[in-house]
Amino acid sequence: MFDPSGPYADIRQEVAKLCRQFPGDYWQALDREAAYPTTFVNALTEAGYLAALIPEEYGGAGLPLPAAAASMEEIQLQGCNGAACHAQMYIMGALLRHGSTGQKARYLPGIASGEARLQAFGVTEPTSGTDTSALRTVARRDGDRYIVSGQKIWTSRAEHSDLMLLLARTTPKDKVTKKTDGLSVFLLDMRAAKQDGLTIKPIRTMMNHSTTEVFFDDVPVPAENLIGEEGKGFRYILSGMNAERVLIAAECIGDAKWFIRKAADYAKERTVFDRPIGQNQGIQFPIAKSYASMRAAELMVHKAAALFEAGELCGEEANMAKMLAADAAWEAANMCVQTHGGFGFAEEYDIERKFRETKLYQVAPISTNLILSYIAEHVLDLPRSY
Ligand SMILES: Cc1cc2nc3c(=O)[nH]c(=O)nc-3n(C[C@H](O)[C@H](O)[C@H](O)COP(=O)(O)OP(=O)(O)OC[C@H]3O[C@@H](n4cnc5c(N)ncnc54)[C@H](O)[C@@H]3O)c2cc1C
Repeated sequence: MFDPSGPYADIRQEVAKLCRQFPGDYWQALDREAAYPTTFVNALTEAGYLAALIPEEYGGAGLPLPAAAASMEEIQLQGCNGAACHAQMYIMGALLRHGSTGQKARYLPGIASGEARLQAFGVTEPTSGTDTSALRTVARRDGDRYIVSGQKIWTSRAEHSDLMLLLARTTPKDKVTKKTDGLSVFLLDMRAAKQDGLTIKPIRTMMNHSTTEVFFDDVPVPAENLIGEEGKGFRYILSGMNAERVLIAAECIGDAKWFIRKAADYAKERTVFDRPIGQNQGIQFPIAKSYASMRAAELMVHKAAALFEAGELCGEEANMAKMLAADAAWEAANMCVQTHGGFGFAEEYDIERKFRETKLYQVAPISTNLILSYIAEHVLDLPRSY
């Protein structure tokens, strides 16, 4: 149903083979227990996929973003959940582009081998929400270290990560001309920090996502762990966002394909009123519509990934790709439940689990409203609303 001979077919086939070791019942058991898919993440690490974007000189695969996106799409298409580890790919960008040679030499080989996991991204806070410039966590310089105090929320995978990319304010908001200035990025070693003021508290959510609240009670961070220049952290985080959008969008395309395949297969085989339900256009059309929406979104994902790889401006395309792909996945999820009738709600069909998982991408890592706002203001030149 989906052409396996397209770009990066070899990667897709290998990822699919690995994913077949982790069928639905593996994910169902984890979901029930709200447990982390350690075996799955270890298998991906050992096969080198989580080091896809790390240059070869540091022990990674040195692959381009479209290849990494193809691997993430395939994970979702096989019914697995890349959310357990996708952050390592997109967080990496800040270290790769803005880290010093010393920082890269110190951390990247360990991350590439799986010895150190860089899975936690500490940006969102309870009171700031989408307005990142309003974050309140502060890092105060104290000799050759910074002292961090504050709180993050929705820091996913913090319990399963050794390192965190942390955004904190180093200059008070009232002392900078632009509110996005005065924020700095740190590579925080959570193994040390847990012994010195860092507390992690899990948050249970409607899907199994290993997300947490993180509290910083005067946590010391060596000054050498500051990424780039002090006060310029917001732009470092922004520079990684297009890659993040593309990777998440590719995951959403994988989800959409999974729902469409599942629905089409079921519609052919389920017989009611002495004929397959897929013979009814009331069942056929939503599947066909989902397929068309997914294919259109997929084109935008490929376009955004190609522009990113060519080093061209791609904010517009990356944002549109993320929104269109997330919408296509959500439309397909809804359609798939409807196609399955009552069985769509049964755990063993995996549909209700994937339905809950894919809903997230309407909100995180950026919500649909904020993408529309970006397009309105930055592409269509409409007046700023905030
Ligand atoms: C499961 C999960 C995992 C996450 N993982 C991470 C992570 O690892 N690291 C991290 O830093 N963050 C993470 N997040 C946070 C995520 O990025 C935020 O939830 C998201 O950016 C939205 O922020 P918020 O929840 O505070 O919503 P709010 O900012 O409070 O917004 C609420 C609603 O209002 C809308 N809204 C707000 N302002 C405007 C406006 N000006 N115009 C129109 N609509 C507006 C939003 O679109 C949204 O629909 C995660 C979130 C979840 C739920």
